[in-house]
Amino acid sequence: MSNMRTSIKCNCGQRILAKDVVQHGYYLRLFSPSFVYVKFRCSRCKKLGEQFLKQEEWEEGILRDAPLEVSTEEKEQFAQQGPIDINEVIDFHFQLEGINDLKALETAPPPPKRAAKTRSTPQS
Ligand SMILES: [Zn+2]
Repeated sequence: MSNMRTSIKCNCGQRILAKDVVQHGYYLRLFSPSFVYVKFRCSRCKKLGEQFLKQEEWEEGILRDAPLEVSTEEKEQFAQQGPIDINEVIDFHFQLEGINDLKALETAPPPPKRAAKTRSTPQS
């Protein structure tokens, strides 16, 4: 068993799941691995694509989505926000320092909107 998960991907990079498959069929051969033919419509770019897979890859649940704790909307939102930068990490650090118990955490103000602020390092 390996941790490598094969998956079907559209040319645009979107992962193809069972709901995107429009057609599939088997190519059975006697002395070599059998193949599964999959035709799909990408859920992101709506283009049709097709791919051949080894039958065992198909049966290993290649189209099963990994369980996610975030919804599709949240995922897109996170993608738009981009990577967390060092200033955000520092802000968060100071926010945590100002919190004395978990109740306070619930009522903590949301992080400030990042405008074009400049952070100056304290001079000694
Ligand atoms: Zn696509």
